[in-house]
Amino acid sequence: MTATVLIVEDEPAIRQMLGFALVAEGYSFLEAGDVEAAFQVLKSCTPDLILLDWMLPGLSGLDLARRLKRDPETAAIPIIMLTAKGAEADKVRGLDSGADDFVTKPFSTRELLARVRAVMRRVQQPENNELFEVGPLSVDLRSNRVTCQGHGIDLSPTEFRLLKFFVSNPERVYTRSQLLDSVWGADTYIEERTVDVHIRRLRKLFEPYHCDVYIQTVRGVGYRFSSRID
Ligand code: CA
Repeated sequence: MTATVLIVEDEPAIRQMLGFALVAEGYSFLEAGDVEAAFQVLKSCTPDLILLDWMLPGLSGLDLARRLKRDPETAAIPIIMLTAKGAEADKVRGLDSGADDFVTKPFSTRELLARVRAVMRRVQQPENNELFEVGPLSVDLRSNRVTCQGHGIDLSPTEFRLLKFFVSNPERVYTRSQLLDSVWGADTYIEERTVDVHIRRLRKLFEPYHCDVYIQTVRGVGYRFSSRID
């Protein structure tokens, strides 16, 4: 079945360019020029992914993302936000509002499609996978065993929980506060730089086996676990 992408973008030229690229990749698409139009489209169909421009006339892309994530009917639809260059604070707010990922304008079609494919892959993955293998890294959630190139890696319980969260939610950017909520628990009061400390430790353990490259820093925003290395 063809996956459908809803493009919410007020500039017709960008909508057209995105639509063209998506069709060439085998996706079908729907389009909306603002938040109201997007709601009209969502009444009659559920897209597999939404490409959402942040800057829209009237309600912003952030408003739309928040509303969609609050509604159980639409909460599961992944969202990739299109944001302005350098607006790191916006990216953090976008991710905290429930967006899965973002692409910075101006973007290349190649970059955008790579992120679309990554999100689609993640969404289509079976939920209760218990063995994750990424290159030479293997994480077995049944035995809590982590190996790199066949060498066992000793992790602290927190490091293991963090890695487990990453491998279970690959190809998606998380802010430090989202990682704290998901790995440490929403009701713990820990400083955000604790996340950095644990990330550094994980990377150091993985470095001798070249597995540290999968834990990627998204500058000014947070971290992403990705098998794509560029
Ligand atoms: Ca715009």
